[in-house]
Amino acid sequence: MYSVFELFKIGIGPSSSHTVGPMRAARAFLQDLEKRPEWGGIESLTVELYGSLALTGRGHGTDKAILLGLEGEDPAEIDPDTIPERLERIRREGTLRLLGVREIPFSEAQHLVFHGDALLPRHSNGMRFTAGGPAPAVRFSRDFYSIGGGFILRAEDPDPGAGGSLPDAPYPYRSAAELLTLARRQGLSIPELVLANECSAQSVQSVEQGLDRLWRAFQSCVRRGLTSEGTLPGGLHVVRRAPRLYQKLQQNPSPDGFDIMDWVNAYALAVNEENAGGGRVVTAPTNGAAGIVPAVLHYYRFHVKGGDEAGVRRFLLAAGGICILYKINASISGAEMGCQGEVGVACSMAAAGLAAALGGNNAQIEHAAEIGMEHNLGLTCDPVGGLVQIPCIERNAIGAVKAINAQRLACGEDGEHRVSLDQVIQTMRQTGLDMQSQYKETSRGGLAVNVVEC
Ligand code: SF4
Repeated sequence: MYSVFELFKIGIGPSSSHTVGPMRAARAFLQDLEKRPEWGGIESLTVELYGSLALTGRGHGTDKAILLGLEGEDPAEIDPDTIPERLERIRREGTLRLLGVREIPFSEAQHLVFHGDALLPRHSNGMRFTAGGPAPAVRFSRDFYSIGGGFILRAEDPDPGAGGSLPDAPYPYRSAAELLTLARRQGLSIPELVLANECSAQSVQSVEQGLDRLWRAFQSCVRRGLTSEGTLPGGLHVVRRAPRLYQKLQQNPSPDGFDIMDWVNAYALAVNEENAGGGRVVTAPTNGAAGIVPAVLHYYRFHVKGGDEAGVRRFLLAAGGICILYKINASISGAEMGCQGEVGVACSMAAAGLAAALGGNNAQIEHAAEIGMEHNLGLTCDPVGGLVQIPCIERNAIGAVKAINAQRLACGEDGEHRVSLDQVIQTMRQTGLDMQSQYKETSRGGLAVNVVEC
């Protein structure tokens, strides 16, 4: 079983697949190399990017992430404020400090190669790392993939559907039907069942501390986003909107009775503007869709009567438990599924999480998750300029409001419904497979070709 802590990962923006994954892959490559005899003779390094990473990598910060990963940085640990200075030093000196300890010459123009028209076999986000020395015998090369949500895969790794860090989970499930049956047999709610699985690897206190840490990270991201003004990097000149909306809400809370929706919008915009600015965010399940879960969590905790910290934990456990179903039966990668795999999954997770936080029964939680995805089916990924800004930022605000509505529709009924979550996940997977590649994070179709960059 996957752990919810593998799905909610603290990292940096703007993209889990194009920033977090490549940084982790670059570091992992060198950590593999460090254990081998070739390590001592390495004097050069080439990184080749394929498919979506090559097509939208510059806009998504893949080039910077690779350099930082090669220097040994971890996306969960790096201080985002130090990044510009680090990159400036690497580029000015023309050198890289491999894992922070071995210096080699490195020229981006020569050693970081973008193959936009080629793919590696297993996924459209492929990377090839090749290290060499003066002697031809000193050569080590490995292919890696960034498969969405910050997850990485080595070329020789088994299918990720079989992965996960909870091999001893007492209640493993691969479908929503299995999850519901297990929960009914054990007399557990979905959050309780997910908690029991997490407790196979650590104590209940430690799981709760981990959930509380995530909640603090979500809050800190929202806080920074609500108060950071300015224009986002990348050349689209997108002005941050969250601070303006936040100020308006504070000054004139309810001009037309829609202030709850405005608060949810403000929270989601805050997170995704932080993400686009390269700030600290939590994958939920990806960076591009990182605003939906925290926006709905903030709505629950600060705007719903009775919202409390125990409910926040139930929310995260249920949302994570639902995300596992997408991870093993479809994909949470925009490059594989289009935006239905990112914003659609986040909407489904948040709807389920909110239903659980508000005391919904298991059938209502599953129904909320189903509605959250059903009305995102077919959503394409077409980021303008290859940046995680248009349509991504606004789309998170829309997705958050949609998740709340999905919960309301589901919890207004007794849980009986016609379309199951398993059916909708299969539909999403098939739709993603049928979707043409220009709508899957390549910036070769949709808004990306109809909105002029300037
Ligand atoms: S359009 Fe959706 S899937 Fe594509 S980068 Fe933006 S948020 Fe991610």
